Amino acid sequence: MKHEIQKQSTTTAALLKELGVDAAELKAVWFGYPMAQFVVPERFGEELEVTTCELQTFGPEDCMAHALLDVCEELRRSTECTCTFGHEGGYQVVTILGDVCSKKGKPDDIALLRDLAPVMQAQALCGEGRALASAVLQALDLFGPEIEAHITKKSCPSGGCPAFKTYHILVSKCTGCGKCLDACDDDAIMGKAKFVHVVDQRKCSQCGACLEACPEGAVVRAGAKKPKTPPRPIPVRRK
Ligand code: SF4
Ligand code: SF4
Repeated sequence: MKHEIQKQSTTTAALLKELGVDAAELKAVWFGYPMAQFVVPERFGEELEVTTCELQTFGPEDCMAHALLDVCEELRRSTECTCTFGHEGGYQVVTILGDVCSKKGKPDDIALLRDLAPVMQAQALCGEGRALASAVLQALDLFGPEIEAHITKKSCPSGGCPAFKTYHILVSKCTGCGKCLDACDDDAIMGKAKFVHVVDQRKCSQCGACLEACPEGAVVRAGAKKPKTPPRPIPVRRK
């Protein structure tokens, strides 16, 4: 969530209190350009010179890979500089992070970001380009396992990335009417009349058509926490 703040000398904890934000619910705060700084709860009590008007908060359900992507995209948008290391480097970073957040991350993406960011920090002519590089390095240090899980485990631990959400059919609600099966263009739903239908996760493209089609509210979209469903269709229990 974005907040407007005053420039001042304070602590993150004091600022959050002023804004009425419960610090216990947060996993990070981002101070916008020119500070360009992630602060994690262990450091909320430290004094800092606030030189930006923009503060963003991230809770347990926010994905930090996606947060980093958003921050980098905003830094790119906010400058007209076209220097090679700031502009082109920023493009590379945003492309890599975009892939990471949409299930297309490759094993060497993190190493690439770690190689590219220090060069950008040293060579970019614009402050935004250097800030972007610094944000990348900070995020990799602070949220490395969460970001890497998108590549190594093909999962989004917070459940915040839309591309990693999965669709499931609840046994307790499904009547076996077949409307979801008809709506699925990917043949990713198994079932027949009076049987609880099941989504085949290997074929599902996360289009959401089944969720729209189900008149019983039996289809759910899940983040990190998945509901228990049978591996194959079973007779309906619902009367
Ligand atoms: S989300 Fe789309 S592809 Fe996946 S099961 Fe539902 S209709 Fe099929
Ligand atoms: S999930 Fe919904 S639409 Fe699909 S068979 Fe069950 S009740 Fe019908």
